[in-house]
Amino acid sequence: MAQVVLKDVVKKYGELRVVHAVNLHIAHGEFVVLVGPSGCGKSTTLRMIAGLEDISGGEVRIADRVVNDLPPRDRNISMVFQNYALYPHMTVRENLGFSLHIAKRPKPEIDAAVAEAAEILSLTPLLDRKPGQLSGGQRQRVAMGRAIVRHPDVFLFDEPLSNLDAKLRTQMRVEIKRLHQKVGTTVVYVTHDQVEAMTLADRIVIMRDGHIVQVGTPLDVFERPVDAFVATFIGSPPMNLLPGTVQGDAVRLGDGSLLPIPPNQRAQDGQQVLYGIRADNIMPDGHALPPTPHMAHVTMSVSLTEPLGTETLIFATLAGTEVQAKMLNPRPVTNGETLRFGIALDRCHLFDAASGKSLRV
Ligand code: ADP
Ligand code: MG
Repeated sequence: MAQVVLKDVVKKYGELRVVHAVNLHIAHGEFVVLVGPSGCGKSTTLRMIAGLEDISGGEVRIADRVVNDLPPRDRNISMVFQNYALYPHMTVRENLGFSLHIAKRPKPEIDAAVAEAAEILSLTPLLDRKPGQLSGGQRQRVAMGRAIVRHPDVFLFDEPLSNLDAKLRTQMRVEIKRLHQKVGTTVVYVTHDQVEAMTLADRIVIMRDGHIVQVGTPLDVFERPVDAFVATFIGSPPMNLLPGTVQGDAVRLGDGSLLPIPPNQRAQDGQQVLYGIRADNIMPDGHALPPTPHMAHVTMSVSLTEPLGTETLIFATLAGTEVQAKMLNPRPVTNGETLRFGIALDRCHLFDAASGKSLRV
């Protein structure tokens, strides 16, 4: 069983700590995505699992073996990078079989592994082509095929789709998910793109400044962000955050108006907070989901719209802060038009303004 366990894993470059005592337990067959802004330590963490970086402290286990001192080739992992260098003078077949060839595996075994990988990735008709005769997506599939011929315990992906255009990226995302369904191998996948993380992951690990901030299923981290950072990092558009002060059972916003404290949130009188509202939960009357028992209403003047087809994004100002709202079953809206919006309070959040921590109970 190829679980991956990180125990108090630290990475230091000289005196600079870039990964702080990270703890993570990845189950056999699980698809885990490390996501966070550039420089937060995702690649370093992945490279420590791969054995491409020394570990400054703690322990990495793969399939119940401590691998801290094992070189990459002895860890039974395969890594796919953003810059997947294929050998240009070799055919797809030779590229796929190369690592087994180097490992001096018998030819029938190599042929069988290559045929299997080619079948899984729909590369069979392309086996005799050279990389120069392939599209970007096909080349990326060959790079993945090279990783799977070795039947690793764990696949490690570092931003494998970053070099592809938006359309191809979406297609390859589906292929990677399908590949995981077929082979069931444990995957640790790094990306800075929260959409990629949400769509691929069984569990998402959100990192910031070398720390793990939150671990959970995509729905967990979307619905129950532990702090304002996760709330704005996960989900598009980012959650609206309105500064205010708690007064009784309401929050007084910058313009003096009051919004009730959402159910399931607890704050002290006088506490400085951020009131979090996703665009999905602030919608114009008549263009919203059915109302919940906990609704508040505000009136805003529209400053800009983005029609997206099935919905329109509306930019407006609420208590001095620019917010984004959504309109379902949209009708045309003119800038400057004033609309009444309903806010689904039971889907709103409060965060402590100083620490950013969620005030959910
Ligand atoms: P991410 O993949 O999340 O963008 P990295 O893991 O590549 O981030 O980097 C984490 C931090 O470690 C960054 O601040 C980066 O500048 C620093 N870093 C990475 N490699 C080195 C190195 N060889 N020497 C010093 N600092 C490094
Ligand atoms: Mg990186």
